[in-house]
Formats: sequence, C-alpha cells, structure tokens
Amino acid sequence: MSLAGQDAAASQVIQLCLDRKIKVLAFDFDLTIVDIHTQGAWMGSADTLALHIQPWAKVLMYEILQRSDVCMCVVTFSSQPLLIRNVLRKCYPDSLAKINKIAVCANTGLQCVPYFTNSDDTKGKNCHLGLALDHIHSNDNMNVAPKNVILLDDDANNVRTAMSQGYRGCIVTEHFTLQKLLAQLKKIPTAVPPEKPLK
Ligand SMILES: [Mg+2]
Repeated sequence: MSLAGQDAAASQVIQLCLDRKIKVLAFDFDLTIVDIHTQGAWMGSADTLALHIQPWAKVLMYEILQRSDVCMCVVTFSSQPLLIRNVLRKCYPDSLAKINKIAVCANTGLQCVPYFTNSDDTKGKNCHLGLALDHIHSNDNMNVAPKNVILLDDDANNVRTAMSQGYRGCIVTEHFTLQKLLAQLKKIPTAVPPEKPLK
C-alpha cells in the first residue's frame, strides 16, 4: 500500500477508536512495535533497534503523536524503558516533547508491583496498564477508564487478561497491517445511543 494509503488508514484507525470512545492506544513493544524480541537485553544501539519498527506501528504512532484527542503509551515486560523511549525518539525526532511525556511502563523492578498502582489486578499487562492510566490522569489530565484503552499486543494471553478487566484489545498477529487493525476495531460496537422514550 502507498504511503498516502497508510496515512489514510492510520487516521481511519483513530476515527474508529474515537467512535468507540477509545482515547488511549497501549502498545506492547517486543513483536508489536518492533518485529523482533529483544528479551529485555538489547545490547545494540537505539538506532539499530529503530530499524525494526514495524511499518504499520510507525505510521500509526506518527498519527497519534500529531493529535491531541488520543494518546499512546507502551506497556512491556522489557526491563529497558530508556532504550524504548530512545527508539521512539530516533523514530520521531520532531515529536520529542510528546515522546518525553508518554508512559513507558516496563518491568524495571521499581514498577509493576501492586502498591504502585490503583489497579488490584496485576496479571498479564494489567498492572502496566493501571500505571499508564495513573500517568495519563496526572500528566494529560485525561479522564480514562479501562474501556477507553485498547491494548495492542502479540501475546493473546495479555490481550485476554486485559479484556477481562474491561480494556479493549487487539492481538497483533504475524504480518500485521493497519487493515487488520481496522477489521478488529469494527468488531467492537460503537457506543449505543440512548433509547428514545416510548410515547
Ligand atoms: Mg510482545
């Protein structure tokens, strides 16, 4: 698909999200944003890792960073949040102010223990998502509930676990595209309009 087509697909993704009251796109990192698994032990540079950003993720994150009605965060089991932020900085040098502010919730040993979040569910990515929501509440002054967040993750267990707590979810499969994401989003019902009172 052409670059212009990709851009159009990315803005369509955001529109479908907004129609479904989804305001936060939470990205897993390994095998979701990038096409490899770093095992949280990447020894190379952020520049080299940035070359592995998947085309669909690159276009979608670019679209999010241009807008103020949606935001993104990263929720990952990786223990290298600084590396991840640096990869995003390399990829989007014109959006440094936003990149510096987004929540990158990782397994650093300091994060993702229950008392750091209001969430009482710590399975899968739920603790990470709870932390990200706390961050978004305090930094962006955005009022978001789990139903306003979609987790994009290649691990089906993480997606299922998040969905059991009211988050939206999409499994990032091999050879993923924005078209596949659009198809997943269309399966989520839009907000039901209030019923008209009976006459
Ligand atoms: Mg992953």
